[in-house]
Amino acid sequence: METNQKPTIGIVSPCYNEAMVLNETSMQLNAILQDLVARNIISEKSFAVFVDDGSKDETWQIIEAKASQLIHIKGLKLAGNVGHQKALLAGLLSYKDEADALISIDADLQDDVRVIEEMILKFKSGTDVVYGVRKERTTDTSFKRNTALLFYNLMKMMKVNIVHNHADYRLCSQRVLKALSEFNEVNLFLRGIIPSIGFSKDVVYYDRLERFAGESKYPFRKMAAFAWNGVTSFSNYPLKLVTIIGFAIFFVCVLMTGYALFAIYTGDVVPGWLSTVLPMYFLGGVQLFCFGILGEYIGKIYSEVKQRPRYFIDKRVD
Ligand code: UDP
Ligand code: MG
Repeated sequence: METNQKPTIGIVSPCYNEAMVLNETSMQLNAILQDLVARNIISEKSFAVFVDDGSKDETWQIIEAKASQLIHIKGLKLAGNVGHQKALLAGLLSYKDEADALISIDADLQDDVRVIEEMILKFKSGTDVVYGVRKERTTDTSFKRNTALLFYNLMKMMKVNIVHNHADYRLCSQRVLKALSEFNEVNLFLRGIIPSIGFSKDVVYYDRLERFAGESKYPFRKMAAFAWNGVTSFSNYPLKLVTIIGFAIFFVCVLMTGYALFAIYTGDVVPGWLSTVLPMYFLGGVQLFCFGILGEYIGKIYSEVKQRPRYFIDKRVD
């Protein structure tokens, strides 16, 4: 960024039924951009784009209204609900050629907008990826905190490389976004993909705030699916685990056979069915478990080989 003193910055925010927060969010983002433009930090072409992820409420109408009222606000409407990750990708890929860097942020103002400037300054001094990292999670419920901790530990255990306490609040330079556009996977897990791209990186710290209004669009079911997707998209460790379990059971069976022979030899045989039936159930269970894990991966291969488009764009307002 050394050559371009006033980079064009885009802010991308996916929205699903966010009618209750959009007024405030669009005003705040517009004001921040106006201020940065006035202070000659970014170009006046900078913008914030709200991606409507097939909302059922007034989200798109509000985005359209804001796009005509506020100079820096734009909108992108997807044809249907594709989920947070794909909606974010749609925004990033659709606007990557119109900005020197894009910042992704949640629409609910939980990601503190005050660090946007810090992100941009780090970008201007040559950093390609700036991760927003949460300091404390004091505003989250203890349930959300504990499940999040479980999530990061699971990722670590499964050898997935992600940034601790970083969600999808980050700045990516144009070349990182170009790289991102070369990933064709359907099972998107951006927090795993971005670190795997490389380039120079840095972090900014912020306090995760309370949701401005409305409720979380990530119930436990979606969070669990998201974590599982993260593991199976980035790690073959569960497959290895199957091998390890299989080997351990084989070893135990050898010991058991040894013991059975010894028992026959000493005549100490109890004519019980337990010793016959129990291993059968046990092995049956283990096998099903292993098949299940294999099935998970086969399911993913199935959805990847189809190479289905990940989203469709309905319209744009600029
Ligand atoms: N979101 C989306 N599509 C969905 C679900 C969520 O675009 O299917 C957006 C949502 O509008 C918000 C962001 O993803 O801007 C994060 O969602 P939310 O704040 O509900 O999650 P939480 O902060 O509770 O984890
Ligand atoms: Mg939120």
